[in-house]
Amino acid sequence: MRNRPAPKRHTLLRMSLLAAGLASLGVVIGKVAEPPRDPALDARLGERMMSEVFPVREPHETVLSALPADAASSMAAPSALEESAPRDYLLDAVEKAPATAEADEVTPSTDWRVMEVAVEKGDNLSAIFSRMGLSSRQLAAIMELGKDVHPLTRIRPGDTLQFRLSPDNDVLGLSYGVDKATTLNVEKAGDSFQASQEVHPLETRLSYAEGIIESSLYKSARQVGLPADMVLELAEIFGWKINFLTDVQQGDEFKLLYENIYKDGEWVSTGKILAAEFNNNGQTHRAVRYTAPDGQSTFYTPEGKSLKRGFLRYPVDFKRISSNFNPRRLHPIHREVRPHNGVDFAAPTGTPIKAAADGKITFAGWKRGYGKVIIIQHDGTYSTLYGHLSRFNDKLSQGSTVRQEQLIGYVGATGDATGPHLHYEFRINGVHKDPLKVALPEAAPITPKLRQDFLAQTGQLMMQLGLMAKQRAAEVASASEVGTATDSAPH
Ligand SMILES: [Zn+2]
Repeated sequence: MRNRPAPKRHTLLRMSLLAAGLASLGVVIGKVAEPPRDPALDARLGERMMSEVFPVREPHETVLSALPADAASSMAAPSALEESAPRDYLLDAVEKAPATAEADEVTPSTDWRVMEVAVEKGDNLSAIFSRMGLSSRQLAAIMELGKDVHPLTRIRPGDTLQFRLSPDNDVLGLSYGVDKATTLNVEKAGDSFQASQEVHPLETRLSYAEGIIESSLYKSARQVGLPADMVLELAEIFGWKINFLTDVQQGDEFKLLYENIYKDGEWVSTGKILAAEFNNNGQTHRAVRYTAPDGQSTFYTPEGKSLKRGFLRYPVDFKRISSNFNPRRLHPIHREVRPHNGVDFAAPTGTPIKAAADGKITFAGWKRGYGKVIIIQHDGTYSTLYGHLSRFNDKLSQGSTVRQEQLIGYVGATGDATGPHLHYEFRINGVHKDPLKVALPEAAPITPKLRQDFLAQTGQLMMQLGLMAKQRAAEVASASEVGTATDSAPH
């Protein structure tokens, strides 16, 4: 399910927990039982750590360091390594453009400049034109190209537009990166404009990184050039096996097979993690990405076992636990002893609620004190209940199939609730269990039907990881031999 190489939207809490874990010094504090943590403390710790661990995100800096760490140097053109700082690439384009024009004798005037504009929140092309004092008549002429310039109607914050302007602010050209591979170019041609698309196919190269943890996974991984997002993903892959808050210690090792994406020989971004190994306190955990025929990617052990639990411990990112599982609780509204058959997670109204596991919605509607409630049957044994919702995911209803972590609804205070929270129940064969303490089953292994495909796909990746690790070891060994030879050479 982790098939998106792009930065994922982690919630602050989740990020914080991970960050705190990644930042934690490699001292084993002892294996803290997984569920009963103080989430508020964790969040505070996480926030503090976040600011220490991620002071500033410097995406470009990672590029320079990522590439020398590329053990697959045989697979990466060495020349690409030197030219691979994207920031320079943009500045170069800006600075070199007029020079190119001067060199181009056909161009009558060299008197133009390039301006780069970052798209802001709520921006559209018309807003950008008026902000830059450009002609609305020219804008209209560009938009007249219709379908050919359609991507310009879909610009998003974070995108950049590159304008080529005459001294009196006439638009001579406009370029927009539609996606990583495609650039839309609009050029002035007489009184009108012409649009064309430039496609530069992306190339994926395999890379290898390894590291030994000295103070934190985060630091060590960054030292060998892995971007922050990838460190988080790595921690998430092994998150069910290794508690990154407490278990990671000095001397732990990781090995990673991942993708780097290039365009025209220039580095664009890192891609997906394909296989990883994490040696924690002498125990080696392995993970390999498998993409099923339906396109879903999931990490498994090389043997095809799941790395995850079948259930989320927390189906919501909560602020605090406002009421624990308690069969003999005094009910806050009814003022009498009524069992509290679930856990209350306090969170603001509207906070997304996720399905704790794959399953089928057997009820979605109003149930007395529960207010708006969803019940999911996961298999013959397990079911979960989510109460007091403000609203449901309107794409779902009774009978819908849901996947683990799928958004099912939003926190609210419907029914008997003193404030917005999720009331969450966990049942095994109809018997209520404490959701925070119940032993969660492992997620399902690869199905027999997919096993052949799985082994073929992942066997390759594990072999590649092994080969690159060997190659790296050989490089390190020969480098140290060279060092010795130089040292002992006669002076
Ligand atoms: Zn409750």
